[in-house]
Amino acid sequence: MIKIGDIEVHRIERKRSSIHPRRFFRIFGAKLMANLGWLLPNYYDSPRDMFPASIHSWLLKTPTHTILVDTCTGNGKPRPLSPYFNMLDTPWLERLEDAGVKPEDVDLVVLTHLHVDHVGWNTRFEGGRWVPTFPNAQYVISHREYEAQDPKRGAAKRSEAENLPFIDSVQPVIDAGKARFVESNETLLEGIDLMPIPGHSPGMIAMRVQSNGEEAIFGGDIAHQPIQVAFPDWSTIYCSDQKQAALSRRTMWDYCAMQNCLLLPVHFGWPYCGRIGRRGNDFVFLPHHQEP
Ligand SMILES: [Zn+2]
Repeated sequence: MIKIGDIEVHRIERKRSSIHPRRFFRIFGAKLMANLGWLLPNYYDSPRDMFPASIHSWLLKTPTHTILVDTCTGNGKPRPLSPYFNMLDTPWLERLEDAGVKPEDVDLVVLTHLHVDHVGWNTRFEGGRWVPTFPNAQYVISHREYEAQDPKRGAAKRSEAENLPFIDSVQPVIDAGKARFVESNETLLEGIDLMPIPGHSPGMIAMRVQSNGEEAIFGGDIAHQPIQVAFPDWSTIYCSDQKQAALSRRTMWDYCAMQNCLLLPVHFGWPYCGRIGRRGNDFVFLPHHQEP
């Protein structure tokens, strides 16, 4: 557990995973090799030539609210285009309960963006249909992201298989009247607001938390790996606008370094979160060595 002022933060894991440097970033080995001094052993698994990664959600217990940031991949969901996410059966809900939270306790589900690995537990299959997993929660979705991923609008040219995550994990929440559509810079609660970080997806948002003089950014997929702290211009092959993603990342690194924020993304491997420091004109990753 991590404390940010008066707020408790828990990490709810779906899976440890790994990312292939060249397939994911199309980066050149020379730059990787030049950074081995700080990447080894935690941020680059040299024998396997892989970056250790994770898929998780962040759970926040404030003095007044229970908030979940992103909902991983869900169970029993057909994903014909992604064998890695297809028809999963994982104990993610049990892990949430291990952290002392039942689905009905969650007040807010903040979705940084609407990709397959961030919306899955929005719903579960009950009575022959997909229903909201968190019956008392508002699901926070940025207008811009909704418009971009909606199969009737921004995603109209995608196949039904590509749109399945929206169809079974986002639309049922909207149909149940549980969606709270927001602007990308809206204030959600006192001390908790949103920041626009477009690029990886068109309407991606970060959630900023300020409590008792401490500050943290729940950054979704602003970066997938610590090496992107040193190389903010490296976007992934999955970013819808790589240049914009790099711009959002550089702006965020500047902000985090200035404010000494703890950055909590969704896919960093152990130790899962950290701060951003400056060394001359460069950014450096300062890991947070406290098990979340
Ligand atoms: Zn992701």
